[in-house]
Amino acid sequence: MSQHHQHDVLIIGSGAAGLALALQLPADCRVAVLSKGELTQGSTFWAQGGMAAVLDEDDTVESHVTDTITAGAGLCRPEVVEYVVGHSSGVVDWLVQQGVNFDRRDQRGGKEFHLTMEGGHSQRRVIHAADATGRAISSALVKQTLARDNIEIFTDRVAVDLVTAEGRCQGAYVLDRASGSVELFQARFVALATGGASKAYLYTSNPDGASGDGIAMAWRAGCRVSNLEFNQFHPTCLYHPRAKSFLITEALRGEGGHLLLPDGSRFMHKFDDRGELAPRDVVARAIDHEMKRTGSDCVYLDVSHQPARFLQSHFPTVHRRCLDFGIDITREPIPVVPAAHYTCGGVVVNLQGQTDLAQLYAIGETACTGLHGANRMASNSLLECLVYAQSAAADISALLPQAVAPLAAPGWDESQVTDSDEDVVISHNWDELRRFMWDYVGIVRTNKRLERALHRAQLLQEEIKEYYSNYKVSNDLLELRNLAMVAELMIRCAISRKESRGLHYTLDYPESAAEAQDTVLTPAP
Ligand SMILES: Cc1cc2nc3c(=O)[nH]c(=O)nc-3n(C[C@H](O)[C@H](O)[C@H](O)COP(=O)(O)OP(=O)(O)OC[C@H]3O[C@@H](n4cnc5c(N)ncnc54)[C@H](O)[C@@H]3O)c2cc1C
Repeated sequence: MSQHHQHDVLIIGSGAAGLALALQLPADCRVAVLSKGELTQGSTFWAQGGMAAVLDEDDTVESHVTDTITAGAGLCRPEVVEYVVGHSSGVVDWLVQQGVNFDRRDQRGGKEFHLTMEGGHSQRRVIHAADATGRAISSALVKQTLARDNIEIFTDRVAVDLVTAEGRCQGAYVLDRASGSVELFQARFVALATGGASKAYLYTSNPDGASGDGIAMAWRAGCRVSNLEFNQFHPTCLYHPRAKSFLITEALRGEGGHLLLPDGSRFMHKFDDRGELAPRDVVARAIDHEMKRTGSDCVYLDVSHQPARFLQSHFPTVHRRCLDFGIDITREPIPVVPAAHYTCGGVVVNLQGQTDLAQLYAIGETACTGLHGANRMASNSLLECLVYAQSAAADISALLPQAVAPLAAPGWDESQVTDSDEDVVISHNWDELRRFMWDYVGIVRTNKRLERALHRAQLLQEEIKEYYSNYKVSNDLLELRNLAMVAELMIRCAISRKESRGLHYTLDYPESAAEAQDTVLTPAP
């Protein structure tokens, strides 16, 4: 007999967005937080550079807003950017109250934060905890969450699909990975905080699990999605046969790092006057171009001209991790390649994080709020997670007293399925999907490649559908099902954009159109 859980609020995801929401709901609100693996498994834990916020006396909200809108290439929603940036110093205060120790200018107890510079920012405004900011935020939020009596944590749980009735969201079916059974979680409000979908690509900086589950679940439940053609590629992931997606923080370029070709020459100035400090998309495209032109497997990032002590104290994680692979960043350049990093598009939401489906919210990387437009500015994503967690918490708290309890819902029916005896289908399709997404829907696109990719994504989905109807669900099958669906949505968005803008660059339409428009997909009724 499968289990049945009842809560006021069900939060799917335990990254910065999910935990910050859980912690800001009223203390008498019964909250469930789900995570696919450990609580710290999402991208949040791996964030290195930091979080952008207006903290320096020489900085202004207007300047941060202008930089964000410039990076977003005409598609940011100005009211959203103003809202998020306007709340930035408030969420920093909240994080400090939760116990996050950001670096200070004077590490012996000074009050002022140490701020770094990153691509696209015209000011030093990135607050950080050395080069492991995500770890510091994640650890503090997990600690606070575990101390709260009203929050129940469910790890190793994978949400399969949302439960809807009478036009509202009422919970989710959830796989318990340990027992293999699917349980029913019912709640008055559900929040998707499941992170992004960069696992759709062969090379990614994201941890396992970034398979776009929230986007796919929301789409299946009837919500619109937007701007999924804008997948950000981080320009510099460590290139080493034994390194699985280790990111070399952008802050290294902010601190004077040079990008070099294998012959030791610099090249960024040929592409942008800002050189290595150009926005990510420009840098990623330049590297892609140079790698294709020279036939090299990688380029190099050199910071060895900086004092060794500075590098060791400001970038201890990068320094240590590179040493593990025999690379001493204080003496030699680091081999790097671009990798899929951030999903700018997602589930369409308003300023409170509400989706098209009543009582369903989407926050963090899963959502498309209008903050990032066609290109996310570095370090704005943790900020977005925290600001939207705060506004969704306020909205849910206000609506809770009148919210209708969920209706009775059927349990998960497994009577027609058996255990799979051909898991090779799943692993083969995973590889195929991620490779054609990399080759055909990558940094530089063409109509032909996108059409090919669409055809393959649709074929894969048919095969997966058949498999899904015949066999018991597993984590890998659920992720593949979601990735294939989100891949199709990404491709459809890319095909419908007949121009190049921000992160979407196509050889067939290299110029930007005069008017910038969002791509919005609406599910068939
Ligand atoms: C290497 C790296 C470095 C980065 N550096 C920075 C940085 O310096 N500054 C910055 O602003 N941003 C950075 N980013 C981006 C930023 O970290 C993410 O956008 C942000 O942390 C996303 O937070 P989130 O809460 O939306 O999702 P995540 O932190 O990814 O959490 C997702 C959660 O959802 C759970 N989940 C997913 N699907 C399901 C399901 N079906 N059922 C149950 N649970 C599910 C996962 O288990 C996880 O708990 C970086 C990202 C990476 C990968």
